[in-house]
Amino acid sequence: MEKHNLICINCPMGCRLEITITENGGWLIEGNQCKRGLSYAQKELTAPTRTLTTTVKVKNSLLRRLPVKSSDGIPKEKIFEAMALINQVTVEPPISIGDIIIENILDTGVNIISSRDL
Ligand code: SF4
Repeated sequence: MEKHNLICINCPMGCRLEITITENGGWLIEGNQCKRGLSYAQKELTAPTRTLTTTVKVKNSLLRRLPVKSSDGIPKEKIFEAMALINQVTVEPPISIGDIIIENILDTGVNIISSRDL
């Protein structure tokens, strides 16, 4: 048997999850107070992703950096590569909140979008 401990970060409750992977490959997940904890634990142990929030350079504007975020979770192992790509981007106004700054970053199916108007 294999045991893992995680804290669910889907809401402020922060449930402590205990995941037991049994010898026949079954999963026993305990400590969650709702179903979202189950899917969080399964995803975190099989294909973890992270929402990325950062900024990109801006030219021809009083604002020097534009806040951006990923439209969905990016696979954890691609976060540093995604950041390197985002750091090469420079944008110019006008930009609206939700505009796509980088489409389908690293073929993940996830867009990097603006978090504000510019
Ligand atoms: S299991 Fe449910 S209640 Fe607990 S932290 Fe996750 S989302 Fe919140």
